[in-house]
Amino acid sequence: MRTWVISGAIALVLSATSPAWGWGEKGHRMVNRLAARSLPRDVPLFFRRAVWELEYLGYDPDRWRSPTEPALSAANAPEHFMNLEHVEGRTLPPDRLQFLQGLVTREIVRGDVTPARLGFLPYRIVELTELLRGQFRLWRHAPRRTARQRAERHQIEQNILFIAGVLGHFVADGAQPQHTTVHYDGWNTAVAPNPHGYTTERGIHLRFENDFVNEAVTESDVRPLLRRPRRLGPLFEETMRYLRESHALVERLYELDREGGFVPSSTHAEARRFVAERLAAAAHMLASLWYTAWVESRGEPSPP
Ligand SMILES: [Zn+2]
Repeated sequence: MRTWVISGAIALVLSATSPAWGWGEKGHRMVNRLAARSLPRDVPLFFRRAVWELEYLGYDPDRWRSPTEPALSAANAPEHFMNLEHVEGRTLPPDRLQFLQGLVTREIVRGDVTPARLGFLPYRIVELTELLRGQFRLWRHAPRRTARQRAERHQIEQNILFIAGVLGHFVADGAQPQHTTVHYDGWNTAVAPNPHGYTTERGIHLRFENDFVNEAVTESDVRPLLRRPRRLGPLFEETMRYLRESHALVERLYELDREGGFVPSSTHAEARRFVAERLAAAAHMLASLWYTAWVESRGEPSPP
């Protein structure tokens, strides 16, 4: 009975909080744009030229969050984050179905958490990257002798841009530390003590990723921090490493906020640098995922 009461209380606290949204439109557009401009020349020209299209798509998954599409909204919301505290010390399986199975058996989660409150972000990133790799492979082998073949090849290019652009959204969300934590909008004292007096009030999420980015960060702050894309290793491991790096910055974010760093008129140099570094990390990871998908798409398409 006692266990039920405690876990019920935690569930209540968790469900009282609304799902996280991600960088505002400016941050998402910037990440996709910078990634698109940082690609090496061996990536196909149609892709490198599509900077505006890829930029537009960076914000697209947040356009799918409308109460007029309730089923889509419900399924889409947990794709944008993963609260890593709930899986701390656990080895996650590399695909979503095994992960869901582990949730059912409670083997891979700590505490009483529903799928909607845990989030699926790494799975979304890996699934989209694999989808992109497969489409690049089809494109490499698509003939273009007849008008029909050229139309189909063009459609593959459209598919590639859509998948790559949408992937950028989720990669950028992963660089926002609050998309990896139960403290996604105010320190969650129901889950962790608060000895350093971080804000517990709602509003820090939007203040950091939207209001502050809109007013205090420009592309010229981010561009110098951007590294060249690299060929990644195993996808799931690389994705989890990227999310854990972001997660390790959760406390730093709350410290900077406590110092008033993220009020829009702030002149706090470290706060600006912090945001710029996060956006640069996202653009670097995104360009690396695109590049790796392209490089690894060599070889024959396998039969369906
Ligand atoms: Zn998002």
